[in-house]
Amino acid sequence: MSKVNPITAVKGTNDLLPPQSGHWQWFEAVVRTAMAAYGYRNARTPILEQTQLFVRGLGEVTDVVEKEMYTFEDRSDKHGDAASLSLRPENTAGMVRAVVEHNVLYDGGKRLYYMGPMFRRERPQRGRYRQFHQIGAEALGFSGPEVDAELILLAAHLWRELGIRDWRLELNCLGEPDERREHRAALVAYFEQHASELDADATRRLHTNPLRILDSKNPEMQRLVDGAPILLDFLGETSKRHFDVVQAILRANDVAFTINPRLVRGLDYYNLTVFEFVTERLGSQGTICGGGRYDYLIEEIGGKPAPAVGWALGVERVMALLQEEGAVPPESVPDAFAVVPEGADLAVVMRCLQQLRAAGVTIQMYAAEGARPANFKRQFKKADASGARYALVFGSDELAAGEVTLKALRDGGGAQERLPLAQSGKWAVRLKSGASTGG
Ligand code: ATP
Ligand code: MG
Repeated sequence: MSKVNPITAVKGTNDLLPPQSGHWQWFEAVVRTAMAAYGYRNARTPILEQTQLFVRGLGEVTDVVEKEMYTFEDRSDKHGDAASLSLRPENTAGMVRAVVEHNVLYDGGKRLYYMGPMFRRERPQRGRYRQFHQIGAEALGFSGPEVDAELILLAAHLWRELGIRDWRLELNCLGEPDERREHRAALVAYFEQHASELDADATRRLHTNPLRILDSKNPEMQRLVDGAPILLDFLGETSKRHFDVVQAILRANDVAFTINPRLVRGLDYYNLTVFEFVTERLGSQGTICGGGRYDYLIEEIGGKPAPAVGWALGVERVMALLQEEGAVPPESVPDAFAVVPEGADLAVVMRCLQQLRAAGVTIQMYAAEGARPANFKRQFKKADASGARYALVFGSDELAAGEVTLKALRDGGGAQERLPLAQSGKWAVRLKSGASTGG
């Protein structure tokens, strides 16, 4: 028989297996607790959306919409026309669509968060994948600068809870549309004066989206970009005050930041405050979290005008940073490990384990490997490796007496005693006592 070629994962996608999957779950649990502390509630929107949502929401002349989306023509169903659909490249547009569609803001602002996979057709490399995961927080219907600050403080709180220390915060204010228009005119005039130094992307964007040129990753363009007019110089009083309050709140909370007038973010929908959390430890994929205010997106997507602000973090990058910083999350450890010799009455054993688990005890077993029973020594090795504090030995003597041997594996120096199977409810508590997760 010929050997079958194995099928591999799609380029730029990752499988998440133990123990890393456990680290992710721990991270997600930390996030849930933090979100609850700030009053953000979970929301989930489809991975598949109409392409038009992203074209309108993110802006036509952005990297994501121009070249990174997974877009396909859906076959027409019986009634409707064929529709262009896309895998979501981010979740803000989808959240806003859902909020508008279900009139979620009818009785005031809402704080929401999401977690899930996003899709962008980028060149895969460390920290940059085609299916990646974001966690995002959005405060919808609030215009005050304290909400911008709250979101930044929420992210800083998360880094602290996770044990991440190597980050810095960059802030900018993008102003309002009229301020941007003035700045844009100055920007176009400046780049036109230097037309011969623009690369192909920049030349194309000069009249469609000149602000985007400031976001250029081309090192040869950096000097030109550095000399360009700064939006901060075009801000009016209201925008300035908003930005000042955000900064004052951050200072009052000892959150250090630098103002980066070049920070424009990759998507079109932002105004006023924008920010990024950056680390030096992940090379060129150093942005772990980015966000800002997007007061015009809700209206753009067809809702009643309402202000909004939010951020999204890249889960893969945060996990990579955690590993770089050596902040390894706790592995979960079972309370007990069942050791089951060959020939034991498995129905009796499994019934006991089932009762203990119903009482909240976590138990693993390794009685057989493939078709073969695992010998005693191998089972004890597995029990030790699991980190369990107890072994439950279901020997034939014990079972004959309606008992099981409880053996201390870690502290207690191997102390053991026999316990009646019929009264497992009584001694289950003892197995549970103490921490079920260890270092
Ligand atoms: P970058 O400049 O690195 O491409 P971005 O501005 O496109 O990032 P956002 O759209 O702001 O990123 O997404 C928020 C976060 O999601 C980023 O800060 C990053 O941590 C993460 N992220 C974005 N794209 C990817 C990707 N292809 N793979 C892994 N993580 C990503
Ligand atoms: Mg990008």
